[in-house]
Amino acid sequence: MITIQGKGVSTGVAAGPLYFYQRASGTLRRFEVEDREAEFARFKAAQAKAIEQLGVLAEKARAEAGDEAAMLFETHQMMCEDLDYEEAIEGFIKESGLNAEAAVTDAGAFQAEAFAAMEDDYFKARAADVKDISGRIVGILMGVVQGGIDSDVPVILASDDLAPSETVQLDKSKILGFVTSGGSGSSHTAILARTMGIPAIIGVGDQLKPEYQGRDVIVDGGTGSVIIDADDDTRARLMQKRAEILKRQELLNQLKGQPNVSKDGQEIRVYCNIGNPEDVHAVLENDGGGIGLFRSEFLYLNCDDYPSEDYQFEAYKKVLSDMGGKEVVIRTLDIGADKMIGYFNLPHEENPALGNRALRICLSRPEIFRTQLRALYRASAYGRLSIMFPMVASVWEVREAKKMCEQVKKELRAEGIPYSDEVDVGIMIETPAAAVISDRLAKEVDFFSIGTNDLTQYTTAIDRQNNDLGRFFNAHHPAVLRLIKMACDNAHKAGIWCGICGELGADLELTELFLSIGLDELSVSPRAVLPLRQKVREAQVRNVREKLLADLMSDENTI
Ligand code: PEP
Ligand code: MG
Repeated sequence: MITIQGKGVSTGVAAGPLYFYQRASGTLRRFEVEDREAEFARFKAAQAKAIEQLGVLAEKARAEAGDEAAMLFETHQMMCEDLDYEEAIEGFIKESGLNAEAAVTDAGAFQAEAFAAMEDDYFKARAADVKDISGRIVGILMGVVQGGIDSDVPVILASDDLAPSETVQLDKSKILGFVTSGGSGSSHTAILARTMGIPAIIGVGDQLKPEYQGRDVIVDGGTGSVIIDADDDTRARLMQKRAEILKRQELLNQLKGQPNVSKDGQEIRVYCNIGNPEDVHAVLENDGGGIGLFRSEFLYLNCDDYPSEDYQFEAYKKVLSDMGGKEVVIRTLDIGADKMIGYFNLPHEENPALGNRALRICLSRPEIFRTQLRALYRASAYGRLSIMFPMVASVWEVREAKKMCEQVKKELRAEGIPYSDEVDVGIMIETPAAAVISDRLAKEVDFFSIGTNDLTQYTTAIDRQNNDLGRFFNAHHPAVLRLIKMACDNAHKAGIWCGICGELGADLELTELFLSIGLDELSVSPRAVLPLRQKVREAQVRNVREKLLADLMSDENTI
């Protein structure tokens, strides 16, 4: 039995085979083959597999976001079979004797170059598609699995850390839990695990060895331990713990349908954070009161090119309709820093977390912003939508963004396209600047939602991705808590609501403080709704308010 210790960032106990996430190595081998016919047959088999994979993706996209979404994958299927493309590959293999991986890469590059040189924008854009399908076929030839999991049974997925673009591609039905060597509690692997309601352990470093692949593993997200080939006693103990967790979940289920009201009558809204239209299922399952944060950038991460207005419209419409009139706060595109997207072609930056990201990109590339806003306003006719801008630092940014909203509404009106007049517009408070000028910002918008993941990162100058800063990181740093109070007080002075949508919202040690501050909403991962409801219902806010607020502002607090 081997025990590895990491940090648990999503609770629960799960058992299954350990499986290392597979990535393309990036080193393409190039050599002359002996049997050219056999090599061409190898290409044909990979081509057929690529077409099959794309068919599955098309159906998934159709179910999640409609016909337009499926079209991209169907176009890729056709391009895989394109005669010119195939003949070029055949030539490289049969005439030049190249191995299939190199032949596909060269034919793809050649065709992509030809497309890129065309005048017509539509054909220019096909260059990225050819590269994409070539990458897929080469990946299959090299044994790299798209989505990272080539296993018939569900697994405990091991990796260094997963990029957001990798998490969106994962076949979630195959994952029982996560173990990562790096990462942090607010990294996207951790957020995904909490949304899925499965255990995750991060920061195990080099204790995780490739030779453990396929071995039996039990992960305990509560204690952060990973046990390989557990002995009988340990297995029995952990399986017992698992049964208790499930039983507790059953008890929590009895809280479904109950209000989030403290013993002395203070109410708070408990909403959910999601990344995909399909997550709505978990929101409803856990009785979330609404959606407080839909990270719309995951739609972009899921695509190989800028998602069209119709594609986005279908996805937003689905979330709004599936939520049946409950409030849905959709955050506009928040890419850059830890969420990079190739086709945006963002230049390399020395400090991407402080660079061109989120609203900054939207304001400097208005055509992208406008497409998203049009899709959002069109979808607003199907439910109760609120729009939220991320990474705000100044009043002028909010005014510009709101101006864009007005322009888009004007266009839709002129085109006779319906939209709701009741859409609220709010901002995230996730830079210290926004918190400090929240009195001014509150006059510009309908609500604040505090992004504590970034607010903590920027306030304490601690990289949210870096798990090695251990003792320097304090999730309850008074600077962050005071900024939360400042933003909330300023919101209330201006008569608008204020919530938290960062991970701190689910921290049960802070629930009483958040109620004392008077926050109106906490938006958390779906699985955190019922434990949070239970905590709220046990609280007697009147008894603790004065002391907690005095402690928060006290100069005795020496952190
Ligand atoms: C945050 O920063 O707290 C937040 C909710 O946004 P994200 O984690 O997507 O950056
Ligand atoms: Mg953020």
